[in-house]
Amino acid sequence: MFFYIKLTQTTVRQFTVSHHREKEFCLEVAARENSFNHNALSLGDSMGNTTEELHRRIEELKEEVILDFMGMLRIPVLAPELGGKGEWERATYLLGILRKYGFTDEEIEVVEAPDSRVPEGTRPNILVRIKGGRERAVWIITHMDVVPSGNPELWDSSPFEPEIRDGKIFARGSEDNGQEMFASLLAARALKESGLRPEWSIVLAMVADEEVGSKHGMKYLLDNGHMASDSLYIVPDHGVEDGLKIEIAEKSSLWLKYTVKGKQTHASTPNSGLNAHFIGANLIVSLIPYLRQKYDARDELFSPSISTFEVTRKEENVPNINTIPGEDIFYTDFRVMPGYSLNEMVEDVRGFCKGFCRGMGADVEVGVETMHQAPPPTRMDATVVKLLSAAIESVTGKRPDPEGIGGGTCAAVLRDANLNAVVWSTEDHMAHDSNEYAWLKNIVQDAKIYASLFFTQTY
Ligand SMILES: [Zn+2]
Repeated sequence: MFFYIKLTQTTVRQFTVSHHREKEFCLEVAARENSFNHNALSLGDSMGNTTEELHRRIEELKEEVILDFMGMLRIPVLAPELGGKGEWERATYLLGILRKYGFTDEEIEVVEAPDSRVPEGTRPNILVRIKGGRERAVWIITHMDVVPSGNPELWDSSPFEPEIRDGKIFARGSEDNGQEMFASLLAARALKESGLRPEWSIVLAMVADEEVGSKHGMKYLLDNGHMASDSLYIVPDHGVEDGLKIEIAEKSSLWLKYTVKGKQTHASTPNSGLNAHFIGANLIVSLIPYLRQKYDARDELFSPSISTFEVTRKEENVPNINTIPGEDIFYTDFRVMPGYSLNEMVEDVRGFCKGFCRGMGADVEVGVETMHQAPPPTRMDATVVKLLSAAIESVTGKRPDPEGIGGGTCAAVLRDANLNAVVWSTEDHMAHDSNEYAWLKNIVQDAKIYASLFFTQTY
């Protein structure tokens, strides 16, 4: 009953929580109270008191903030190219949440990126600014959009009806990227209510369009002068289970489209045509091992420590079974060690495919869908790396390590512009999976890490 009252009093957008689920939630919270690990802080006295105060507030506020998080997960959000209407409905909900948490109009800015494909004509990016002792700001950047939920039969519960089971919230977008959005909101709300002035100025950015390339999100903010060159950027959109890896480098990414051209005919008379699907399938099983063998550089900073070459999407060729397809279209996704030139790799792939298909009497076109040459990594001694490491250590008692990943987060966009960005969070790699979930304990622990970071003075 307690939670029911709290929910109806505070929620901005009306939504219903079944009695059954509410009870389950209360049980989860109670179980967590007993098991949550309160780590000793390894910070100085006054700072230790400040962060202890914030951590106590985080514990007090967590149930309500988690319910607000579940409210957001009920609002579907997809980019127009994925069949959606953009982020405005979620953004409106979040703006209501921010006002409820005490943020003023002066602290909240909505940057609208024009996009005629969505009903409102713009894509919203929300910036929340909290003034600190220093002008220099720490940004925590999360994205509002999600990927499609995929086949509903692969889900144990509805992807847009969040459920709490075994200490986790199950829903599309729960881990990617709502978990850290609400961890940062939980920390910022605790800070706001404490009335304390943080060491650093803080910017929480909730951006649009991350899942399809960030044109109306991070890139728009960057191109329109919203990001300062001396700010410190944290993009919590990837991480490991214990939260002890800080990503400072990404691989290059290359997405290619292959159109194999044969000759369509009846399936009973194959000699009068040329089966493009068969040739395409043969091409894949030759091309991929060729690339894996040739581009075999290894760097243990990255996980996995080699370049990856995967065939992914396949377009439908013919709708019926008794026709030999004259055209076959498929795609590959390569994540490549930064030392290789993607331009050279594209030429190499084209040459290989042309030669292979010619040998089978067919033609092929290889088109570039996405090409991103990895920027130089963020330095290990950059302020943002040291600051985040100190905050993680103060909460977990353990020192994190730097790492490199397969790429594709907002951080690469920032590094392209010579801004110091790191990617970090505590998560199980459920992004884009069916039965995606976020751990409640991760929301609380990462909120405590952000709160500690707000007051870390050392660097
Ligand atoms: Zn993401």
